[in-house]
Amino acid sequence: MDQSTIPHWYAPDGDVLELVEGEGVRVSDADGNEYLDFLSQLYSVNAGHSQPAIADAMAEQARKIAYVSPSKHNDQRARLAGRLAEKAPDSLTDVMFSVTGSEANEAAMQLARDYQGASKILTRWRSYHGSTYGAAALTGDPSTRAAVEEHAAVTGHAKFLPPLDYGGPFSADTPEELAEQAADHLEWVIRNEGPDSIAALFTEPIAGTSGAYPAPPGYFERVRELCDEYDILLVSDEVIAGFGRCGDWFGIQTEGVEPDMITFAKGVTSSYAPLAGVIVNEEIAEHVGEEGMPVGQTFAGHPVSCAAGNAALDAYEDGMLENVRDLAPHLEARLRDLESVPEVQDVHGRGFLWSVEFGRPDGEKDEFLFDPRVDEGENPVAAVRDEARARGVLFGSGRPDTQVLVAPPLCTEQDDIDRAVDVLEASVDAAFGANGGD
Ligand code: PMP
Repeated sequence: MDQSTIPHWYAPDGDVLELVEGEGVRVSDADGNEYLDFLSQLYSVNAGHSQPAIADAMAEQARKIAYVSPSKHNDQRARLAGRLAEKAPDSLTDVMFSVTGSEANEAAMQLARDYQGASKILTRWRSYHGSTYGAAALTGDPSTRAAVEEHAAVTGHAKFLPPLDYGGPFSADTPEELAEQAADHLEWVIRNEGPDSIAALFTEPIAGTSGAYPAPPGYFERVRELCDEYDILLVSDEVIAGFGRCGDWFGIQTEGVEPDMITFAKGVTSSYAPLAGVIVNEEIAEHVGEEGMPVGQTFAGHPVSCAAGNAALDAYEDGMLENVRDLAPHLEARLRDLESVPEVQDVHGRGFLWSVEFGRPDGEKDEFLFDPRVDEGENPVAAVRDEARARGVLFGSGRPDTQVLVAPPLCTEQDDIDRAVDVLEASVDAAFGANGGD
């Protein structure tokens, strides 16, 4: 193809990978180089690349009838909705499909506001909830929010601190104490914002792109108690944490807490086709009534996407969740070895979602949740990822860009984990010159 006819955003550039094939955890580029995909392409190809059963299910649906509008019945859509409600915590009973994770959060916001008769939504700094006007405004990272806040006043949201004891004001001796401090702070925010003005609290059960940090034990129980006490809906954003990424169907299940709504996307189809949605509790479903949401999207619950979703769920049921539970301790142990590197501030995560967080080599903790160093020219953490790519392993980046995110497909085997972590160690050495580089 004549390169000059490609609009510049899509024109190949020397640094941008052109991935042309995949199989399981492996992907290969146009030059035939093979990589281990240890970020599952934006934390979303949970079942691994090019699974024939998922591709076949999509083709079969497309051959039968490719599209049926959301107001009509489609068997794949109805079956998937039933399976999702069954896998979610008991009190969640109904599913409303959308197309992207951002739109799922928009729908959850709309439902929460309508149900509660209040408008404010609470979210954490160091969180990500999407890119549309409403969902981007929920996002904790100010530089992500800037895109929507610069030219339009998006109001109605308030932020609170995540349960982290670095990069913030909490100072706790134990995880339990951190949970208490962070929950006390949340209550302070609720009371100062005015409980009656707050419709919902949205949170990732374990942070995704903002650093794969899980909550300390007891935190989510307190969050649930506070939501009950102040009549605030609890919404678990499972766009990354869901579909086996953390070893359970949904990340909040690991915390033993029932939210009022779950939003999902990515892993529901293993990203073979766009699909997202909200799973709601019975009271909210009843409030919405028989007709469903007053607004919707043409592609919400697209039959081909729902066929992909049913086939992806089959793959997860067929041993992939067990694989995450079996191999997560090995992945964690291998990654924790990196904590002996002076620049590695912390290693945290759960299941197949981990962050190796870099800090100052002198061990000093950063004072801010968003590290200004990353805008100051060369970023050594980006160099770690580049070194790894040159050695055949793809890792993820997050915001702030002080971390290497590790999120392989759920079908990844122990040998792949060992190879990827060996490469990460060599890449850290090469980027920081520890042990003289290689
Ligand atoms: N919520 C979370 C937790 C996410 O990580 C993302 C995307 N990475 C979204 C929402 C937005 O999803 P989408 O990009 O499909 O709009």
